[in-house]
Amino acid sequence: RVFSDDDKDSGRVRVAVRVRPKTTEEHDLDFTDCVELQPELRRLKLKKNNWSSESYKFDEVFTESASQRRVYEAVAKPVVESVLDGYNGTVMAYGQTGTGKTYTVGRLGKDDPSERGIMVRALEDIFANLSPGSDIMAISYLQLYLETIQDLLVPEKTNIPVVEDPKTGEVSLPGSTIVQIKDLDQFLELLQVGESNRHAANTKLNTESSRSHAVLVVHINRSLEGKKENDASSLANVTNSELSAHHLPHLLKSKLLIVDLAGSERIDKSGIEGHMIEETKFINLSLTSLGKCINALAENSPYIPTRESKLTRLLRDSFGGTARTSLIVTVGPSARYYSETASTIMFGQRAM
Ligand code: ADP
Ligand code: MG
Repeated sequence: RVFSDDDKDSGRVRVAVRVRPKTTEEHDLDFTDCVELQPELRRLKLKKNNWSSESYKFDEVFTESASQRRVYEAVAKPVVESVLDGYNGTVMAYGQTGTGKTYTVGRLGKDDPSERGIMVRALEDIFANLSPGSDIMAISYLQLYLETIQDLLVPEKTNIPVVEDPKTGEVSLPGSTIVQIKDLDQFLELLQVGESNRHAANTKLNTESSRSHAVLVVHINRSLEGKKENDASSLANVTNSELSAHHLPHLLKSKLLIVDLAGSERIDKSGIEGHMIEETKFINLSLTSLGKCINALAENSPYIPTRESKLTRLLRDSFGGTARTSLIVTVGPSARYYSETASTIMFGQRAM
C-alpha cells in the first residue's frame, strides 16, 4: 500500500502547484513576477503588489526548473501505485490556458523522453508492473466539450453517455472505444491520433482545444493468481461489456483517469454571442462543480455533489472514497496575469 503513513488522509486530494518558465516575451518585456516560491517549505507567495502578499501551502511546489520526472514522481506515481493495487485514481491539471497543463500531463516527448508528461510516464510505469499474459491494460481517450463526450480515438462517436451501475457505483461510457495496449509505441501513436482528432474537431466547431477537457481512462485488469487468464490478443478493441465480463472475483480491476482540464480563465462575457454564450456557461459549470466536489472532499463531507456536471459524473468512481486523487494547478509567473493566477491558487487551496 502507498500513502500508508497518511491513511488518515485517505480520500483527500493532494495538491501541487507548478509555475511555468517565463516566455520569451515575458522575458523581453521584463514583466514583474507575482509569485515567489519556497519549494523546500512547500510554500508559494503570491504578490499582489510591493506592499501586499499572501503565502500559501501546498503538498508540493514546483519551480520552473522542476523536471517532468520530478513532477511525475511526486504527483502521479503514488496514484499509479495505488491503481496497481486495485484502487481507482485520478490525476488532474487545472489552470489558465498557456500555463502548462498539457505540457505537464499530455506531452509525448517523442524526440526527448525526458520531456514526457504524466500520461506517458504513467503508462510506462504500469507496463513495468504488469505481468505479461495475465494482466490487461486498455485505454479510452475522450474529450468533454459543452457537456458532450466525444471519442478521441474514433471521433465519429459523439454524445457518449456516462452511465453509473446502480449496484456497484461503477461509471462506464457505453460505446466508447477501448483499446488494449501492448507496448508504449502503440500508446504514443494513439495519443497522437487523439490529439489530432481533438484539434480537428475543435477547428470544425470553430473553437479552441483550450475549451474542452481531455480525459484519458486507463483500465487495468490484473489476475491475482498471476496465471494466464486468456489469450490476451483476443482482447484488442474490447467493448465495455466485454471488459466488465472479465470482472471475475480473482481479478483486480481498477481505473486511472488523467485529465487535462479546460482553461480555467474567466471568459469575458461582454461581446460574445451565439454558441459562445452556451460554451461559457458549460465550461464554468463543469469547473465550478469540480471545485465544489473537491471542496466537499477536503471537508470530509459525506456528500460529494458529483451529479451537477458531466465531468464530475465521469469522475464519480475515481475520486473520493478509496480512490486517490492528485491535482496539479499550473500558473504563469508574471504579474500581468495576477488575477487568474490568484484564482487558480484559490482553487487549489480549496482542495486542501
Ligand atoms: P496549457 O495546456 O495550460 O494551455 P501548455 O501546456 O500548452 O499550456 O503550455 C504553454 C506553453 O508553455 C507551451 O509552449 C509549453 O511547451 C510551455 N511550457 C509550459 N510549461 C512548461 C514547463 N514547465 N517547462 C517548459 N515549457 C513549458
Ligand atoms: Mg492545453
